[in-house]
Amino acid sequence: MATPLDAILSLSKRRGFVFQSSEIYGGLNGCWDYGPLGVELLRNVKEAWWKAMTLRDDIEGLDAAILMHPRTWEASGHLGQFTDPMIDNKVSKARHRADTLIEDYIEKLRKKGKTDQANAVEARLNLASEPAHFHAIIIDEQITDPVSGTTDWTDVRYFNLMFKTFVGPVEDVSNTVYLRPETAQGIFVNFKNVLDSTRQKPPFGIAQIGKAFRNEINTKNFLFRTREFEQMEMQFFIKPGSEKEWFEYWFEQRYQWFIEHGMNPSSLRSKPHEKMAHYANAATDIEFLFPFGWGEIEGIHSRTDFDLKNHQEFSGKKQEYVDTVTKDRYVPYVIETSVGASRSFMAFLCNAFKEEKIDGENGAVETRTVLQFHPKLAPVKAAIFPLTSKDGLPELADPLYKDLQKDYKVQWDTSGSIGKRYRRQDEIGTPFCITIDNDSLNDSAATIRNRDTMQQERIPIDNIKAFLRDSL
Ligand code: ATP
Repeated sequence: MATPLDAILSLSKRRGFVFQSSEIYGGLNGCWDYGPLGVELLRNVKEAWWKAMTLRDDIEGLDAAILMHPRTWEASGHLGQFTDPMIDNKVSKARHRADTLIEDYIEKLRKKGKTDQANAVEARLNLASEPAHFHAIIIDEQITDPVSGTTDWTDVRYFNLMFKTFVGPVEDVSNTVYLRPETAQGIFVNFKNVLDSTRQKPPFGIAQIGKAFRNEINTKNFLFRTREFEQMEMQFFIKPGSEKEWFEYWFEQRYQWFIEHGMNPSSLRSKPHEKMAHYANAATDIEFLFPFGWGEIEGIHSRTDFDLKNHQEFSGKKQEYVDTVTKDRYVPYVIETSVGASRSFMAFLCNAFKEEKIDGENGAVETRTVLQFHPKLAPVKAAIFPLTSKDGLPELADPLYKDLQKDYKVQWDTSGSIGKRYRRQDEIGTPFCITIDNDSLNDSAATIRNRDTMQQERIPIDNIKAFLRDSL
């Protein structure tokens, strides 16, 4: 039987949400293209985030370049430390992230009820920092390669995840630049620019949406771990000492954002980090229950003054805020909210996907595939169905269609039975289907059918736009 992830993948491709990148050439690992419906959904996710972040007094937007001065990545620690431990199996030649190999093993122990052993391995993993530590765990536990089933491993090596390229025609060290592995640094290096060009003072934030690139050792699970992806990050600059309260505030805001946009609360959980990144003094992930298990969709991090202090040191430019009244001066602390646009796209897609048994035409039981997106995220907001292509029905429906199209993505469908047309729209998550039938010629009303309840109501055609506005 197809797993839910297979079913979602196949629907994604069939209906034009997501395609494999450069598929006609066999695809490129870790890269995906968003099709006509996918791009609408992705834009809606980003728009919902952008509105939640920037339609308030204390956050400004930014769009920084992907290529940045290479010193940025020295200051941020990415050149030295943005590495994953990798290990190769000598028989299968399969390459793995050593830490995820061990995490998968711990998961298996837990499933078998070997809790003590799982906890012991986890404790060792939490302390591991050197390649030799990871290697020792893999050897001691006799962890096998999922491909060959053998324990014939190479040493563990660290591998930097940043993509390198060159500016200008000469490919040498002095011209090396990196594709940014996160959008956050574009925000940090612009902290003073934003501070000086706006009337903001701490506490205030800077929000940015943009592409990020990581040369991941293993890409897997569709859009979950890709090499090119989009992030939506916000850095909130605060007075040192207030980080605890702001950390809690932002965690709550971000958790609620997912709920408000239709996430099933039982598919969300928070996971505080036990092992902190070198820059953080508190970190909690928001995790979503994907078809393959729990996975991080967003991280909320209390980053102290690590980033601004380092940029101050590496650039020689002060990164302070000076209070003109109190003469108080300090390098602000930062609370970061960091979410993948593409990874949350996938979470919203999985969350929306349902297969329901319903009474079909002629009394038969049918399976209805439906994407129950929050109306704000749905790629298509409404579909218009003239019942038939004759009797003046298309002519009656056309002005409504054109009018709705000025504000919303709407579709027009005249082919097949109404039941078939409903199925087509359910499958892409369209919240409302509007049918213009022969009665409409007399009563100037149409039938609006709700995607989730499948209830139908009769509404005057002139009121439909207002109805949609209220419902969306
Ligand atoms: P992971 O442990 O899953 O690699 P991370 O802790 O390195 O993630 P962050 O650096 O905190 O992730 O990135 C913030 C967010 O960016 C993640 O919550 C995720 O939504 C997204 N993200 C990170 N790496 C990828 C990737 N390779 N593909 C898609 N989204 C990603």
